[in-house]
Amino acid sequence: MIMSSFAYIACTCCGKEYKLDTWQQRCSQCRGELEVRYKFAEPGAVRKEFLSRKRSRFILQRYSCCLPFNFKRLNPALSLGEGNTPLIRAAGSNDLGIDIYYKNEAVNPTGSFKDRGTIAGIHRAISLGVKKVGTVSTGNMAASVAAYAARAGLECFVFVSKNIKEHKLASIIAYNPTLVKVEGDYGELYYRSLELGMQEGVYFINSDDLFRVEGQKTAIYEICEQLNFAAPDYIILPVSSGGNMAAVIKGLEEMHAVGLIDSLPQVVGVQAAGCRPIAASFAEGELNIKRFQNPRTVAQAIANPCPPSGRRILRKLLQGKAGFILTVTDAQILAAQKRLAKEEGIFAQPAGAAPLAALEKMVREGILKKAEKVVAIVSGSGLKDLSVINTAEADILESDFAGLRAILIRGKGV
Ligand SMILES: [Zn+2]
Repeated sequence: MIMSSFAYIACTCCGKEYKLDTWQQRCSQCRGELEVRYKFAEPGAVRKEFLSRKRSRFILQRYSCCLPFNFKRLNPALSLGEGNTPLIRAAGSNDLGIDIYYKNEAVNPTGSFKDRGTIAGIHRAISLGVKKVGTVSTGNMAASVAAYAARAGLECFVFVSKNIKEHKLASIIAYNPTLVKVEGDYGELYYRSLELGMQEGVYFINSDDLFRVEGQKTAIYEICEQLNFAAPDYIILPVSSGGNMAAVIKGLEEMHAVGLIDSLPQVVGVQAAGCRPIAASFAEGELNIKRFQNPRTVAQAIANPCPPSGRRILRKLLQGKAGFILTVTDAQILAAQKRLAKEEGIFAQPAGAAPLAALEKMVREGILKKAEKVVAIVSGSGLKDLSVINTAEADILESDFAGLRAILIRGKGV
């Protein structure tokens, strides 16, 4: 943080303010979502600092002018190389007539965007003096927190639902956290983990932790830099807890406030039709979230029936006009996953392909106009869940040596 900025914590719901060094993850007054806010005394100085482009590969250092950390206390040795992900202009899917870019977050160290937020959360935990961290997650975030805790030499606790499918555990246990299958309401576990953690000195870096959100904002900074500060018309991303969508909106608003971008793109959140608690409230113009009953989708990474930052997102969309929410079906998600791999060479997990499915829907419905510029965020790697790939349906040939020449000549006719 440079001298021209001053950071503090505020409740996005009731406005109550806290000092930056207070260990507070939800509002003590209303249980609302907290966020870090900045008083940019001199926006011009922040802009200049940002554009001076100190080319550190360590994202917390590179974007320190817009982050709530003491630069001197940042520790590059804790980094696993998160961020610095490519923004790839569409090749094949260009036939939609839209100027599409994919922000490929699948190439982060543990295969998802979560790593940006985790490195920030780990620094926050260390600044509070704790030696233990935790998370409530069933996938991407659990692996990410466990990996970064291992790197930092911190003890790590991962709380998962008792009903978790065994194949999802492999990428978590590799990092050797204390893994606990918890019986009981999974939505409530989020709040219990924060309470217990504060009492016992364990910093839970959950999905919408306010410092995680700060780290995840850096994807937006990179996108703006990669587009030479010509903001796109739309940014599309999958939505689960609402934490990452909050990060995207916040990052854009801050870039706009200091004059780094001239316009604010519409932010489009994508939920699966089979688990759409935020989309359901949005459609009704309702600011509260109702728990989504019987969630069912192939996009496991966004199957959160009770998103803890849902209300915050609804306020931004319904009152702030920051964007909107779309739903896509599992069939549309799986088709987009295939297309993204086949035409672009990007293998996304189903949630990561959901933005392309939404983009196709926006074209069909006339929301997107020709030549508009869209960034789709590919949130995680397809290697995370191979169970959705049906190898029996694949076109796999068999041959002896004698048959190989004919196959090479014929090919697939690309
Ligand atoms: Zn509050």
